[in-house]
Order: sequence, then structure tokens, then C-alpha cells
Amino acid sequence: MRLLLVEDDPALANSTKRALESQGWAVDWTTRGEPVPQSLRQDPYDLVILDIGLAGIDGFETLRRVRAQGSSTPVLILTARDAVEDRVRGLEGGADDYLVKPFALAELVARVRVLTRRVQARSGDALGLGSLRMDLAARRVFIGERPLEVSAREWSVLEFLLSRVGKVVAKEQILQSIANWDESLSENAIEVYVSRLRAKIEPAGLRIRTVRGFGYLLETADAAP
Ligand code: CA
Repeated sequence: MRLLLVEDDPALANSTKRALESQGWAVDWTTRGEPVPQSLRQDPYDLVILDIGLAGIDGFETLRRVRAQGSSTPVLILTARDAVEDRVRGLEGGADDYLVKPFALAELVARVRVLTRRVQARSGDALGLGSLRMDLAARRVFIGERPLEVSAREWSVLEFLLSRVGKVVAKEQILQSIANWDESLSENAIEVYVSRLRAKIEPAGLRIRTVRGFGYLLETADAAP
């Protein structure tokens, strides 16, 4: 597995790099955000660990450029600012998860594992509703014949909802299914993923209905309310 670490604090970068390399992962380190989009076009990285506070363009702008070029590589953002707005801004900008500094290296390793975990290949295994289809073996989502880009976390939420079509799913259940190793991932984050998925699956004739006080229900847009 190959990771790209974007961090301008040399001491933190070195300890982080060593912790990741001790897992047998290859780590490339850069102190700036500018070269990141180009690096992702050139090399097949499995994950980007991206500091928000960088010299030059910051982590938010780096992330924006990465997503703007269509890259769906998972991105874990690091923020020194313990502000909910920053985390939400990062998630809305296409990040898959975040860590607030200072963090334990063991926690970083655990999160990297979850974000890069490949769905077990189950041949011929697919989930679908309307014109939406999740190919679980290839780990791809389609609307009709058209591929749909989803992040690792969006994939997990969509898979959870799609495997429970017609049932109301509590936010807490989704949270536990994708993050039982992570107590700090908030229900706000789930709302962000659901909101992004809503927009993405609308062209497939699907909607995620909010059932107030209970959770979410995935259904076809023509279903009776
Ligand atoms: Ca920094």
C-alpha cells in the first residue's frame, strides 16, 4: 500500500511516516499542497493524509483541486483546529475522515486501515435499486451504465442503506457500521455523507428520506410517502 503524506511540520511528519512505514506501507512525504493533484495523477496512491494548515495553498484548497480533477483517492485530513466547522468543511470538500491534532499514532494507523480496507471480493455480488447498482466485487457504483464517483465513506453508507431498502435505519446504526473503532466520528458527519449521497443518487430516481426522530429510509423517488 502506498500513502501520500502532506505535512509541513518536519517533526510530526517524521514520526507519522515512521509509524506508517512500521506497518509495511510505503509513504511519500511532501510539505506543500501544490504538487498533490499532479502526484495523484502520476501515481496510484491508496490514501492521502493531508494537513489543513500548510504554507502556500492550504489543505482545503489542495483537497478541492484533487476532487476537481476527479480523483476519488481517500483523503484523511489533519487539523490543529478543534472546530466543528473545519471538520464539516473538510468532509463537505470531499475528505473521507479527519483527525484533530494532537493524535495518537496508533489511532492514525487504525483509521488508515479502515479507509483503505477493500470490500471483500464477492463474485457476482451486487446491490441495486432503481437504476443504481453497486458492484461489490469491483467496488464500483453505476447509474445505468454510467460510473458514479463515491468516496470510501460514502460507499459504506450507501452499502448500508442499500442492503436495508425499505427499512428505516438509525443514524447511530450507520455510525456504528462504518466507525465502531472511532468514537469521535459524529452523527454530523453521517449527515454530511447522506447529504452528498442524496445529490449523487437523485439521477438514479432514488431518495434518502429523513424519518424524523428515527433515521433514514432509502427508497425510489416514486414511492408513496
Ligand atoms: Ca501544518
